[in-house]
Amino acid sequence: MAKPLVAIVGRPNVGKSMLFNKLVGRRLSIVEDTPGVTRDRLYAECEWRGRTFDIVDTGGIEPGTTTEILSFMRKQAEIAIANATVIVFLCDVKTGLTAADQDVANLLLRARKPVILAVNKMDQVGMTNPDIYEFYNLGLGDPIAVSAVHGHGTGDLLDACFAHFPPEEEEEEDPDLIKVAVIGKPNVGKSSLINRILGEERVIVSNVAGTTRDAVDSYFENEVGKFLFIDTAGMRKKAKVSDQIEKFSVLRAAMAIERSDVCLILIDANEGVTEQDTKVAGMAHESGKACIIVVNKWDAVDKDDKTMDRMRQDIRRDLSYMTYAPIVFISALTGQRVPRLFQLIQYVNDQASMRITTGMLNSLLADATARVQPPTDKGRRLKIYYMTQAGIRPPHFVCFCNDAKLFHFSYQRYLENQIRATFGLEGTPIRLTIRQKG
Ligand code: GDP
Repeated sequence: MAKPLVAIVGRPNVGKSMLFNKLVGRRLSIVEDTPGVTRDRLYAECEWRGRTFDIVDTGGIEPGTTTEILSFMRKQAEIAIANATVIVFLCDVKTGLTAADQDVANLLLRARKPVILAVNKMDQVGMTNPDIYEFYNLGLGDPIAVSAVHGHGTGDLLDACFAHFPPEEEEEEDPDLIKVAVIGKPNVGKSSLINRILGEERVIVSNVAGTTRDAVDSYFENEVGKFLFIDTAGMRKKAKVSDQIEKFSVLRAAMAIERSDVCLILIDANEGVTEQDTKVAGMAHESGKACIIVVNKWDAVDKDDKTMDRMRQDIRRDLSYMTYAPIVFISALTGQRVPRLFQLIQYVNDQASMRITTGMLNSLLADATARVQPPTDKGRRLKIYYMTQAGIRPPHFVCFCNDAKLFHFSYQRYLENQIRATFGLEGTPIRLTIRQKG
């Protein structure tokens, strides 16, 4: 069963980000930083009653003018409905109930997703503020009084979310099903690619486990495998103008990445890697997902026999943190090399799921440390006792050593490269954790 996802939605200034931070606490710091990537802190992993889940803050993205508020809220709610397990609809007791709240509540009511109504800024202990009663008018059930500043009511809120999480053992997902997020900036060709895939080959809209939950996902099967393309609702039709808003494309990408096994990062061949591409690719990298860099619109490029190599080099330079990702040049318009994507998706997914025995890792370690001696500092040498794999998706290795401070980044990088040189792990980031022992 996939990790549940809780999304907080609501009007600007109701305190979404503050609530997010309160719920997440210090856990935010576990988000790893990649040099050159500013990842919006939209996502964090939480734990409550022994259950881990993700929480997403849609509040990092706020509209500029008041006239935009309603369309902004609708969009935000739509994305949450498409992706979240539970939606927390946050209102503000200080401003009271607004027409926009009512409108969004109606949208949420029509979605078949659990919605928890929370009313923020109930700052007094005891919370007898009668103003909370007007929120019953939204038709979303009992409001939960919270104070994001003080933390009151957050336990009740988490309990209410928890009650809607599907049982952990339920609905085992088909282990052969690969969830694919198609991400990239507006107009890069995401819709065109999805339509090309779904339009040309056999599309099955069925009750296969894991595919019924969201009508926004597209299931697709061919002789290579079973694929679920995530959050394709807006792509299956012609993309709407409102979909072109850059800020939503980042939020949408963030949520799709989190639910995926493999990310197809689309780059426009005419433009090369742009700043927004770097951002989206960085999110996929930091989430530890298997990635394929897909250069689209290859048909529209004037090219000679060097163009592809040059472009490949530029991409390696601009997305230097993901040299592990294969690059493929396609045209969603003509279909050129689109069929190859399936093999590649299957391949990187397998690579990300690879398990390497401790025995093999330690013979690699013996070779690697013999070839390049571990660093020393003031006469003290780094000793690496052993290495073992702690997890998959992404492959996660733990190294036990005498002194973590001696384990310089460059030596970690060297070991990573050795691991890749031996085992491949193409298309997937890897994690290396250093543990000091004795
Ligand atoms: P999205 O916003 O990422 O979903 O992008 P769309 O799929 O809506 O495509 C944006 C524009 O690029 C449309 O005008 C498409 O026809 C065009 N386009 C998409 N893929 C290709 C391609 O492979 N080659 C060319 N020449 N144009 C493309």
